[in-house]
Amino acid sequence: MIPYQHHGVAIFRSALYMTNSTIIDAGDAVVLVDPSWLPDEVMSIRRYVDGILGERPLYLVFTHSHYDHIIGAGAFPEAITVASQALADREDFQEPLNQIGDFDDQWYLERPYPILYPTIQYAIENPAVVQQGRMKLHVLPAPGHSPCSIFVLEESTGTLFAGDYLSDVEIPNIYFSSIHYEASLAQLEPLLESRLQRLVPGHGHVADSPTEIRRRIEESRHYIAEVRRAVTQQDAAALAALSSTFAFPKMMGHYHAINAAVIAQEQGLAVPGEDNV
Ligand SMILES: [Zn+2]
Repeated sequence: MIPYQHHGVAIFRSALYMTNSTIIDAGDAVVLVDPSWLPDEVMSIRRYVDGILGERPLYLVFTHSHYDHIIGAGAFPEAITVASQALADREDFQEPLNQIGDFDDQWYLERPYPILYPTIQYAIENPAVVQQGRMKLHVLPAPGHSPCSIFVLEESTGTLFAGDYLSDVEIPNIYFSSIHYEASLAQLEPLLESRLQRLVPGHGHVADSPTEIRRRIEESRHYIAEVRRAVTQQDAAALAALSSTFAFPKMMGHYHAINAAVIAQEQGLAVPGEDNV
């Protein structure tokens, strides 16, 4: 498996769901974000890290605790871990572990490393900087997709890790809160004015310019506003019409239905087209 290389940023894209695992050689440390999916893919990432690490510390960042993002945690036992306080405190941490177990069972997968829920050394509750020499990670709590999501900007390369936000192949997945989701996106505005060069989403293609990042932010905002409008006006046709252009329509239709349900609940309304909610 050959990573996509761009200015010191190496991205391994999984065969599954275009899931991105990213390695940054940040001078005084190596940063690894969300190593994931198939056993061979995780071991390719492990070998790549071993090839460049030397005597330096490895920082392992988890953008959130959904199972596809923590599935590789056990392959990097020496890493210094970074995530949100909410991820560190997650009480139902057994749930993503069960999902990994079910996934591996379904496909007869054996992993040459333990499946575990990560223990976090830098558990971030408010915006904070994690620094090791020239390596500098700006960590911003970003709830909305999940309560435990974070955005992470690696300063030396100007790379933002957005977790499951701002994908070019997925619509917003608002599992947690649309209000928080929009507030989290708003935090990116000041970064766009200065240090941000590229964005690596959890799934999909890299956004390689501030213009493209801004386009994705506006697209997410527009989608959320339109879902909210359809819910407020109880307009089932408008809600359905929003899904007509999705790539991967089966999965995105599923996310779209969840988004409508979350926003309807926030508004104290029924999902348009569904009775007795
Ligand atoms: Zn997720």
